[in-house]
Amino acid sequence: MAVAIREIETRSALVRSRIPGVEFVINPYLGCGHGCRYCYAVFMRRYSRYHRESRWGEFVEVKKNIVGILAGELARKRKTGSVFFSSVCDPYQPLEKRYQLTRGCLELLRNHGWEISILTRSPLVLRDIRLLRSALDCRVGFSIPTDDDRIRERLERAAPSIPARIEALRRLREAGIRTWAFIAPMLPMDPVRLHRLLAPAVEYVMIDPLNYVSRVEGFFRNQGWGYALSREYGRKTRRELRRLFGKKAR
Ligand code: SF4
Repeated sequence: MAVAIREIETRSALVRSRIPGVEFVINPYLGCGHGCRYCYAVFMRRYSRYHRESRWGEFVEVKKNIVGILAGELARKRKTGSVFFSSVCDPYQPLEKRYQLTRGCLELLRNHGWEISILTRSPLVLRDIRLLRSALDCRVGFSIPTDDDRIRERLERAAPSIPARIEALRRLREAGIRTWAFIAPMLPMDPVRLHRLLAPAVEYVMIDPLNYVSRVEGFFRNQGWGYALSREYGRKTRRELRRLFGKKAR
């Protein structure tokens, strides 16, 4: 599916965060080419001047000047902090290959000794493995909401496959980078298989249910996955994952 691209100017890079343990977030893009059906970040359209009526996943606004803006912000900071990439887009969505904005921001943060935390669905993060290794404190997480790539395909149409994500985690870990997985939202899955595939590649996992049920309810029912919408499914699956991952579950 074609994605409408628009280059825009931003006035800020570091945004104060309410996420526990994270001081700042950086979102180099407004919109996300991965276009997950259940995406929680759809509300971001209201901040767009150009795509308020567009479908999520079909536009991306590229904050072309964000690296320069960040450079200025870091120069004015008296102390270092921690930054999370990203809260309302994937920092390694397909356009990052061309624009390298995440990379540019990471270079600056590394040079200033900031803590870096990344959450993505894309093995494109491997492009920056050397840079990440040289950061003072860096961890990389992958969203792995199911072990079943056929389910991923239907819900995250433009995102990389589950095996590719797990392989990327494995390579990052092998390179000495701290890795984790966000098992969220818990989609239909085989928890035993997911644990077997994922556990060797991560230091820890975090688990979260499907929070925006109304966005996918009809689709889930059409696919015969209605059972996975219930609170009971969420409770049972989380309990099973916590048991399997043991001390790795946070
Ligand atoms: S990768 Fe994340 S931000 Fe992008 S569409 Fe999927 S859930 Fe939304």
